[in-house]
Amino acid sequence: MMETFDYVIIGAGSAGSVLTNRLSEDASTRICVLEAGPRDWHPYIHLPAGFIKTFHMKSVNWAYNQEPGPWTGGRSIYAPRGKTLGGSSSINGHIYNRGQRQDFDTWAQLGNRGWGYPDVLPYFKRLERRVGEGDETYRGREGNLTVTTMDWKDPLCEAFMEGAVSLGIPKNKDYNGAIQEGVSYCQRTIQNGLRMSAAKAFLHPARKRGNVDVRTHAHVTSIIFEGKRAVGVRYLRGGKGGVPVEVRANKEVILSGGAYNSPQLLQLSGVGSPDRLQSHGIEVRHALPGVGEGLQDHYAPRSVARVKNIRTINELRRGLNLWVEALKWATTRRGLLSLSPTMVYCFWHSGETTESSDLQLTFTPASYKEGVQGELEDEPGMTVASWQQRPESRGYVRVRSADPLAPPIIQTNYLVEELDRRVVVAGMKLARRLLQSAPLAPYYAYEDFPGPNVQSDDEFLAAATERGTTTFHPGCTCRMGPVDAKWAVVDDQLRVHGLQGLRVVDASVMPRMISANLNASTLMIADKASDMIRGRVAMEAVKFPEMA
Ligand SMILES: Cc1cc2nc3c(=O)[nH]c(=O)nc-3n(C[C@H](O)[C@H](O)[C@H](O)COP(=O)(O)OP(=O)(O)OC[C@H]3O[C@@H](n4cnc5c(N)ncnc54)[C@H](O)[C@@H]3O)c2cc1C
Repeated sequence: MMETFDYVIIGAGSAGSVLTNRLSEDASTRICVLEAGPRDWHPYIHLPAGFIKTFHMKSVNWAYNQEPGPWTGGRSIYAPRGKTLGGSSSINGHIYNRGQRQDFDTWAQLGNRGWGYPDVLPYFKRLERRVGEGDETYRGREGNLTVTTMDWKDPLCEAFMEGAVSLGIPKNKDYNGAIQEGVSYCQRTIQNGLRMSAAKAFLHPARKRGNVDVRTHAHVTSIIFEGKRAVGVRYLRGGKGGVPVEVRANKEVILSGGAYNSPQLLQLSGVGSPDRLQSHGIEVRHALPGVGEGLQDHYAPRSVARVKNIRTINELRRGLNLWVEALKWATTRRGLLSLSPTMVYCFWHSGETTESSDLQLTFTPASYKEGVQGELEDEPGMTVASWQQRPESRGYVRVRSADPLAPPIIQTNYLVEELDRRVVVAGMKLARRLLQSAPLAPYYAYEDFPGPNVQSDDEFLAAATERGTTTFHPGCTCRMGPVDAKWAVVDDQLRVHGLQGLRVVDASVMPRMISANLNASTLMIADKASDMIRGRVAMEAVKFPEMA
């Protein structure tokens, strides 16, 4: 007999983990969670500096490659994605950054009721256990997700922040508080020197409840429909070459496969643009042209300077130094191995738009070969990555074929909009000014990338085209919006338009890119969705003084 659950959740990533936790609070509810990847046992997942290893580790990473775009100099940019319990939160850079008030207010203005900043703030708070500074209006203290502040006080980081102040950028005690703008050490999902993934914070505690069945190496290949109602899913037990299995959902199928895989799975199941599906021989179940369209991401060139008179992480991770650091981590849970790939965050204006700060810059006292995270350079270096917070360019995710195991076509169309090109160039120029600021002068040897020959806007743009990479923030491929918006895939309850028993809950439902890395807001989306699914009243919106 076919196994039947109340809910089948596809993907145990950031969103899937939160959903599992919240839905399983109702003891009589039975939940099946299907995850294509393995359990999250690998030590590199839990050791923060293990980021650099999992970045390319195919056993826990989908390791996609994007299509070359018109502004990527013919390059196909690498796109890692977590494939294990915790999903991308198990391989990400640990940064905790929610975004600006205006981001969520814009979602609401697009016709999504209940998604303005006052509505979503209570969920951000409910999820987190902030350790350290934070105004109680904005920060939570009792959630499962521990958020700490970088505890590595590095002279180069300090000099970078002083450099920012010398350029008129103020220090900000909490970029997740009232105002994002300014410079500070970053906030991280790290506790006692170990990664706080969504699996650790939400999924694993839920598994102890007894009403949750988490299946790993379970690659979902399609959603099963009866008419317009989703009633279950098909998956391959053991992944590629595995045994096909079906499970049923009494109440709902919830798709939390992430911004690349969720639209792919909808298309494989016959939901999408009819012409495109038919061209791959996929039978059309439901015409919904917005599926996979609208992909957005942050595009970041990384400016690198050579460093003198001080050690950088490049040298610390070699030879005897590494042993010293390993010992330090083993005894104190601090030091190099507890570090995230970026340490200082800076939010500022490009001058190209009149809205709130539109640039995000990160600083690391380290540098990577070819400017791509994954392999540190041998000589001392420091890096400023800079990106536009709210790009306008949009791309797509489309099936390559009807084969569910084939990677999807990912075209982000970075920089196709002129505004995006202007803001990215402004970001690189600010990165140069920051690296050349007086407080960093004792350590600054020379600029390696883009290099002194790059002076004009066109030269900066050419450099950005040559070396920019993803910041790993794909979203907006199953956008939330009203039924009459032709791009919309889900309504503001995250139900797929025109179908029953099916929701999408993950980073793909964002209608528009936000001014942040996407983990925090994806967790928030899932927490808010859990109240909708359980039929509970939404948390009370925060009343700010100016709204009274
Ligand atoms: C290298 C990297 C660094 C990042 N750094 C940061 C950072 O520092 N801070 C931050 O806020 N954000 C960061 N991000 C982004 C952030 O982690 C993601 O935006 C967020 O985790 C997305 O959550 P999600 O639930 O949408 O998808 P995911 O967490 O990716 O979860 C999707 C899950 O679904 C599973 N799945 C997919 N398809 C199937 C299928 N067919 N069958 C079964 N299972 C399936 C996947 O294996 C995965 O476990 C980073 C991401 C990466 C990859």
